Parts: sequence; structure tokens; C-alpha cells
Amino acid sequence: MSEHLTWSIGPVRITRIEERITGVPWPSLVPDGSRHLDACRPWIDPFVSESGNSLLLSVHSFVVETPDTLIVVDTCVGTNDEAKLPGDPDFGRRLESHVSGFERVDVVVCTHLHFDHVGWNTVERDGELVPTFPNARYLVTSAELAAERDEEDTASYQRAIAPLAAAGCLDAVDSSHRIDPWVALEPTPGHTPGHVSVRITAGDDVALIIGDLAHTPLQFAFPEVVSNPDHDPAQATQTRRRIVDEHGNTSTLLLGTHFAPPTAGLLEVDDDGAVRFGPASA
Ligand SMILES: [Zn+2]
Repeated sequence: MSEHLTWSIGPVRITRIEERITGVPWPSLVPDGSRHLDACRPWIDPFVSESGNSLLLSVHSFVVETPDTLIVVDTCVGTNDEAKLPGDPDFGRRLESHVSGFERVDVVVCTHLHFDHVGWNTVERDGELVPTFPNARYLVTSAELAAERDEEDTASYQRAIAPLAAAGCLDAVDSSHRIDPWVALEPTPGHTPGHVSVRITAGDDVALIIGDLAHTPLQFAFPEVVSNPDHDPAQATQTRRRIVDEHGNTSTLLLGTHFAPPTAGLLEVDDDGAVRFGPASA
């Protein structure tokens, strides 16, 4: 495993801990993506397979360390054998070593409740599922919990959320919930009803962990290109448009929860409205 990617926003350090990168054929996740691939060359190249037939879907956690709070944003797939994507049993060790012990984590944010974002919320101990981070508050938006409770019997909910509620460490929060002076949630609905992003601010420096509002940066250039699992495609499109309007040609660092390295970038919009995502150009 290569070294973890890290970014700094003022005194806040953000680290990407990778679980796995999987080549996913466009039709199975972002069906209209391949039609727009050529329009996004060459900046899209790091995010797609060599042939261009697949997008490179990374699954990773972001660890956000502020002067006050140690936060884990999304906990990947985990050891659930029935998951649609393979996890990596060694991921837990990598994360634990980076944070110097699971007990040090103060807050776990679930951008939404899909299986690839909550897998390591819990671990099995003595035949029972218990919170992986014993001293953490787990934050999920009320809207997301209300929506997902309808699917309470799904394996993912039972594995990753129900044990938290039983242990008393699950907090239903507002979509604009503030965690500390540097970090707050921000509503970005569409992919799921209560989906949130995580905004990190220090003076003029801003970063946004985008969750699944986009599975590939191609969707910033073509916001109307939807992902199959988008719950409300029109709302998801609207959210992507807002992100481009708000952050295009600014210094906001956008961190893709499913983007392969380089994972983070700026949005540049040229005079014709064409969007490019990538490292700041000189
Ligand atoms: Zn996802």
C-alpha cells in the first residue's frame, strides 16, 4: 500500500486511508459517463481505466484531525461477505494504526448509509457486533435515518447501524450540524435523501468532502449524468450544479469519496462553461 495522501486546511489535517480501488464498467454505475469521456480528456485520465471502459472506483475513509477533534468520515465496506463490492480485511489495521488506536476517535460521520460507507462502523467481538470506535459519537442525519429505517431489515443496517443505536452512541443530527470550529456538515441531497458533505474551513481555506454526490469527477463537467444508485436523479443533478456554481474557479479543495488518486482537486470553469477537475494549474 502506498503512502496515504494528505492535505492541510489551516491547522486541520485530512488523510485518505484506502480500502480498495475497483475498476467498474460505466454501464453498471454511471451509464452515460462513457459518452462524455473524450470531452473530459486529458484531465479525467487518472480517474478511469487505461482502456476507458471503466471508472476507477476508490473506497476510502478520510481522517480529519482538527486541534479539537479526531474525526473519521465514512468507514468503507468492512468484512461483510454479502457486500456488492469486496472490502479489505486489512483496512481496519491501517486505519487503527493511522489514528493510533480506535479509542482515540471522537466522531464518526456517515455521509449516508450505503454499505460502502458504514462497513467498519462495527466489529464482531465475542459473537456480537459492537462499535469499532468505542469512545466516538456516530453522526447520521435525521433525514437519512428516517429514510433508511424503511429498509431496517437490510443486512447493512442491521450490521452497521442497529448495534450503534443499541450501544447508545448514534446521534441523529441536522444536515448542517457543526462538529467544531473547523468542521460542519452540509446538506447535499439526491444520492440519498439525507446525504451530507463535510465542510472544513480555516480562514479563507475551504475543503469539501463530497460523499457520493459524484462517483466520478466527470459528473462535475456533466452534472446531468446520474449514478445508478442516485435515489432522486433530478435532485442529485441539482446538487452537482450547485457545487460547480459555488466552487468553480475558487480555491475550494473538493475531496472525492470515490475518486481514485489524486482524489482531490479544484474546479476550473473556462469562458465557454467547460469544467475541468484536477490539481491547480500553474
Ligand atoms: Zn458509495
